[in-house]
Amino acid sequence: MEKSRGTFGGPSADPVRNFERWKKNYAKRKDRLRQQRQKQKRPAWEVEKEGIARLQQSYSQINANEVVRFSDFPLSKKTLKGLQEAQYRMVTEIQRQTIGLALQGKDVLGAAKTGSGKTLAFIVPALEILYRQQWTPMDGLGVLIISPTRELAYQTFEVLRKVGKNHEFSAGLIIGGKDLKQESERIHNINILICTPGRLLQHMDETSYFHACNLQMLILDEADRILDMGFADTMNAIIENLPETRQTLLFSATQTKSVKDLARLSLKDPEYIWVHEKAKFSTPATLEQNYVVCELHQKINMLYSFLRSHLNKKSIVFFASCKEVQYLFRVFCRLRPGLPILALHGKQQQMKRMEVYTDFVRKKSAVLFATDLAARGLDFPAVNWVIQFDCPEDANTYIHRVGRTARYKEGGEALLVLLSSEEKGMMQQLSQKKVPINNIKINPEKLVDIQKKMQSFLAQDQELKERAQRCFVSYLRSVYLMKNKEVFDVFKLPIAEYALSLGLAVAPRVRFLQKLQKKTPENEALFSETAVLGGDEDIALSSKDSETEDDASQTQTETEEEPIAVKGSEAERLQFFEEGDSDDDDAKDLDVLTVKRRNVFGLEPGEKARTGKYLPCLFLHVYRKPQI
Ligand code: ADP
Ligand code: MG
Repeated sequence: MEKSRGTFGGPSADPVRNFERWKKNYAKRKDRLRQQRQKQKRPAWEVEKEGIARLQQSYSQINANEVVRFSDFPLSKKTLKGLQEAQYRMVTEIQRQTIGLALQGKDVLGAAKTGSGKTLAFIVPALEILYRQQWTPMDGLGVLIISPTRELAYQTFEVLRKVGKNHEFSAGLIIGGKDLKQESERIHNINILICTPGRLLQHMDETSYFHACNLQMLILDEADRILDMGFADTMNAIIENLPETRQTLLFSATQTKSVKDLARLSLKDPEYIWVHEKAKFSTPATLEQNYVVCELHQKINMLYSFLRSHLNKKSIVFFASCKEVQYLFRVFCRLRPGLPILALHGKQQQMKRMEVYTDFVRKKSAVLFATDLAARGLDFPAVNWVIQFDCPEDANTYIHRVGRTARYKEGGEALLVLLSSEEKGMMQQLSQKKVPINNIKINPEKLVDIQKKMQSFLAQDQELKERAQRCFVSYLRSVYLMKNKEVFDVFKLPIAEYALSLGLAVAPRVRFLQKLQKKTPENEALFSETAVLGGDEDIALSSKDSETEDDASQTQTETEEEPIAVKGSEAERLQFFEEGDSDDDDAKDLDVLTVKRRNVFGLEPGEKARTGKYLPCLFLHVYRKPQI
């Protein structure tokens, strides 16, 4: 019989051999314990320093081609743990290409499509640079992250909190909308500061003990958006206030001339990383993009019909102005299409904006009516549809808007609604920017007409009627103020039909249009001074009024982060100058946000959301454009 090996003490054990084996193991274990005890006796800082030196040595050996996971980078245990706990393991392309360079201390300009993971591409190096220098609260401000909007700043802050939670650095969010004095008291203790440009400059100017002389790293996120919003001068002023010996990382979803100008000003011998330079398309591959040509007076019917057939989806609808969002939000709440409706725009108070943002993030199915405020870099998880109800200002705005869906390998669908007068110009721009988009047609049989219903709402509700009037003027003005006159021509709009479609019996008088129509050299001069018109149908802001508003934007009670020197898009300007009506009264509708489905227009209850590519219910597929 074969001799069984048995274990020590087992029935068939060989006592001599087992004792030898035990002795060997015992010696090894003792040795290990002694080493561990010795290590424990050494002060923590010494062990840590050794670790840091080892990390630093490894930076030169980073080979981006071999990096697949975050753990392939020489990162501190604290950062790696944070990443793991937040379920980030594999790196995305922009992270793979930029983190190594940033760890080596290089300035980087990183451009990659929306949703490609740029946030971690700068948060990881930011944590590492401070860790490497064993930064303490006493060292003050070490990393400055500038974001275009408060919402994005807040979102970046949340990612930082999650990933950096094992480090001991302090982090702060300085975004305006709160008490300047309170912020000033805390600002000098902060190691990592996330802020919007206007508010930061305000602190640089007004908070005596705020200084950035120790700054190690400057990060500009969504640089293209910062510049589009007219913050170029503010950015120049901020950069002048920063020490020259610092590392700078600049991120952007699009490569525009102004981004390159800012890069020249703020970066030193930068490495350019353009992840999707050779990509066939400039939008994510998982994004299905369609456009539909729809006459102005049918747009609201179409939106309603769309929502009715997408009740289980999460969608964002982009509008050109706050007033449109405000009015249509109210009307749609009353129409009860059958899914929760939310509204996000720049006229809401900051708290309200945050509340709407988190509410929408949490909801499984809902529609968010928004201005371009929501287009800039915000990460809403699991958005199925982006609908551009009003034509975007240009192709870059289009790309940012659709970037709210199809994020990080997820799928998504986008629908652009164009007037026939906008089609040619916009399609040219999109094809130049390598945006693959197909034309689909509305199925007229499936279009639900809600005009009468809206008229009856307005007949009973004077306030709603006034909102409809403001919405009307505001939309016309936004078209008028668009720079690209080949796409946007206010005189081509069927004004009377548009008013009817909003539920108005007659079109309100629009003084600026009337004046433009009988333009004389005299009133042309008037227009150059008061081109931005007030919100009520025929009230023009005098240049004095606009100055007052400008000043207000710099006080601590401001509710809207806005450029001080307004150079950016006219549409932004417009939102800023609209007269301040009861901005936050959308809150009154909170209780009707979750509306129950009601069969208002006799649609069959069984008519459910369809997921097909071309929405056979509402849209007809016309032709697939040859892919660019
Ligand atoms: P961008 O700034 O390029 O538009 P974000 O940084 O906002 O993109 O990231 C988009 C989404 O992808 C976020 O939901 C983020 O959590 C997720 N994400 C980013 N990097 C990773 C990663 N390495 N692994 C998993 N998810 C990631
Ligand atoms: Mg981003």
